[in-house]
Amino acid sequence: NKSDVGFIGVGNMGQRMATNLIKKGRRVKVYDVSKAAMESVTGALPCESPQEAAADVDFVITMLPDGDVVKQVLTAENGVLKGISKRALLVDSSTINPLTARELHKTAEDAGIKFLDAPVAGGTAGASAGTLTFMVGGNQDAVKAAQAILLQMGGNVMHCGGPGAGQISKLCNNMIVAVSMIGVAEAMNLGAKMGLDVNTLVQVVNTSTGRCWISEKYNPVPGVMKNVPSANDYNGGFRSQLMAKDLALASSIAISCGAPILLGSAAHEIYRTMAAYGYGNKDYSSIYKFLQGQ
Ligand code: NAD
Repeated sequence: NKSDVGFIGVGNMGQRMATNLIKKGRRVKVYDVSKAAMESVTGALPCESPQEAAADVDFVITMLPDGDVVKQVLTAENGVLKGISKRALLVDSSTINPLTARELHKTAEDAGIKFLDAPVAGGTAGASAGTLTFMVGGNQDAVKAAQAILLQMGGNVMHCGGPGAGQISKLCNNMIVAVSMIGVAEAMNLGAKMGLDVNTLVQVVNTSTGRCWISEKYNPVPGVMKNVPSANDYNGGFRSQLMAKDLALASSIAISCGAPILLGSAAHEIYRTMAAYGYGNKDYSSIYKFLQGQ
């Protein structure tokens, strides 16, 4: 009864993605530094190290906080590259620096392993529903080989280009999400402070030109929507600290190519400030609460 997938990093996103693979009939081994996180994946086999999770499987998927952690999990003494078999495909779905992703493509290639950068969009709700969009960088053959398993966790697989192209796409997408989150939160807070009923305001915006994914599917105002982090004291979504990390990466690539990102940079400073004020582990929609001065 051999496992066919090693899944490393089963936090807010990985737990849901690994659970979907199990529901679709995959046999999944998991590794996470948190025992509680591993136990949260019902039906998975917990492992003692990344090396053990990567051994004797067809696919290894990493879903870790940042590039330094991914690098360490891949290259450590008991890391993925020590355990993984040559037939396996290694897919990193974390959001990391595109330059680090290119480095990892090279490291994997040197070890004779096929690698893809395949970050995702869709949030924890998309991860639960299996409707994530995968933005993939790497060669065509590897993308083809990954297609079926990625579609067991998502609804779209977009091949964005060569090594790192998935990460560049993801950083561009997240910069839009960050800026629109702040825009929606500011407008909702303004309306509420001027005495409007927030439920009415949400309905108005969502039938008007201000409508966007944030206002419609991920509204930051508590109580106006079910099954979003704002309905759960801003827990269980995308931590503000991780959003700050993504915006820092966007700034870094923007500087490298000379693209002006005025609002992206402002959004970076706003999320860094929120983290300094104790919102780091809360969902990024907690910007609404932050603006209320709470
Ligand atoms: P998370 O912090 O909830 O989960 C990360 C998991 O990695 C945790 O369980 C942690 O214990 C584990 N971990 C940390 N260091 C480790 C190590 N050395 N070895 C093994 N496990 C380790 O983060 P998340 O929200 O699941 O996000 C994961 C990645 O996906 C991030 O790069 C994030 O930017 C990206 N992402 C998140 C969302 C979202 O909505 N949450 C959406 C798209 C992309």
